[in-house]
Amino acid sequence: MSGTPPTVCIVTFGCQMNKLDSQLLRGELARSGFALTDDAARADVVLYNTCSVRRHAEDRVLSHLGSYRRRALREGRFVLGVIGCMAQRLGPKLIERFGFLDLVCGTHAFLRVPEYLRHVMAGQGPIVDVEGDGEVSFARAPGMRVGPHRAYVSVMRGCDNFCSYCIVPYVRGREVSRPPQEVVEEVEALSADGVREVILLGQNVNSYGRGLDGEDAGLAGLLALVNEVEGLRRIRFVTSHPRDMSDAVLGAVAGLVRVCEYLHVPAQSGSDAVLRRMNRGYTAADYRHMVRRARERIPAVELAGDFMVGFPGETDAEFDDTLRLLRDVRFQQSFIFKYSPRPQTRAANWPDDVPDEVKRERNQRLLAAQEEIDAERRAAMVGRRVEVLVDGPSKSDPAKLSGRTRQNDIVVFTGDRSLAGTLGTVRLTDSTVLTLFGELRQATVQHGGTELARLRRGHGGRS
Ligand code: SF4
Repeated sequence: MSGTPPTVCIVTFGCQMNKLDSQLLRGELARSGFALTDDAARADVVLYNTCSVRRHAEDRVLSHLGSYRRRALREGRFVLGVIGCMAQRLGPKLIERFGFLDLVCGTHAFLRVPEYLRHVMAGQGPIVDVEGDGEVSFARAPGMRVGPHRAYVSVMRGCDNFCSYCIVPYVRGREVSRPPQEVVEEVEALSADGVREVILLGQNVNSYGRGLDGEDAGLAGLLALVNEVEGLRRIRFVTSHPRDMSDAVLGAVAGLVRVCEYLHVPAQSGSDAVLRRMNRGYTAADYRHMVRRARERIPAVELAGDFMVGFPGETDAEFDDTLRLLRDVRFQQSFIFKYSPRPQTRAANWPDDVPDEVKRERNQRLLAAQEEIDAERRAAMVGRRVEVLVDGPSKSDPAKLSGRTRQNDIVVFTGDRSLAGTLGTVRLTDSTVLTLFGELRQATVQHGGTELARLRRGHGGRS
């Protein structure tokens, strides 16, 4: 491209997978000669990377798109596009509804966006590409990450589980794992570029490796390989399915020094009848058993869970089972969602019969129960020393530093900005519902396993 490069703004909705796709696309666009901006009002191109998992997310994108009508009609050079799950689901219908849209590009084709933008900008008309041709790209985007020292790494795409409410298998396709060597090479490149924590991402990450040959196949094998990458301090993986939480994966979390003691394992419901209707493949007792196994094997482990309220037919008694599960497990964090029917899914054929106000009330009750747990759990941590990976200045108080514990708790403490990206030991002095506060006791810059092991032995001890 010659002259001033066109500027592109990507607006991202939805999950970490979408955030990662946006990062990958930014890398592709930069390599293709586009300039990137966060200022949608001044960008030559605005792309919406969309989510179909909840109706609310789709409604928000539709309303955003509508707001561009005047600009799109007034500025001939302006390009507006929709990519991701909603583009995959609605395809040409989006152009029918918004005649000023220039690009609709589904989940299998998003890395072709630079090529499509050139086509559109050359005045060759709008493009719709939602063919699910099975092509899966794990293209990397060096230097593109969540923060200076933290990066997502895609290890698999798609999902084969077909939970009855979930649109993911329809818009992202079937499960495909990325070869372990490719993952390791990407982590090595990120580590060499200053990344200290990687989050291995997959819709159903603990089934990683199905369909791959070789003795390293399987998430436990992959974790062992990534654990060897020089310079890396921490490894996390999300999102796990309770049914696939194998002893091998728990053993890897227990035994590998860089793998954090944090498991994100959506429960969705505490009622066996609801879980059956959801096609989740486990009972509440199975879930509780998985939690017991994890805690026996990894004493420092914390669990995060997802819950859905108002699933078709959910009775008061079934909801009470969910509330009981949340209280009994005492999650470190819970993500709570209200059910909304998604086209193509099995549950969309059933009456959405839990009234909105009941969904709202159940949502509030779960949130309140989780808040109570959050406050108690964090208050009980005051006085302990924890290992923290320093992120940088705190967003709420830039004079202080912010970091995360191995269990993904946010800690705010005093210290020098130059410590960003290093591990330290913080003595916890205070807490709120969401945040821990403390004093830095020891900054540690060594990268070696011995140092990490020493810090890990110190984890959770009282000063
Ligand atoms: S496991 Fe179920 S909820 Fe998760 S992505 Fe797959 S189908 Fe959707």
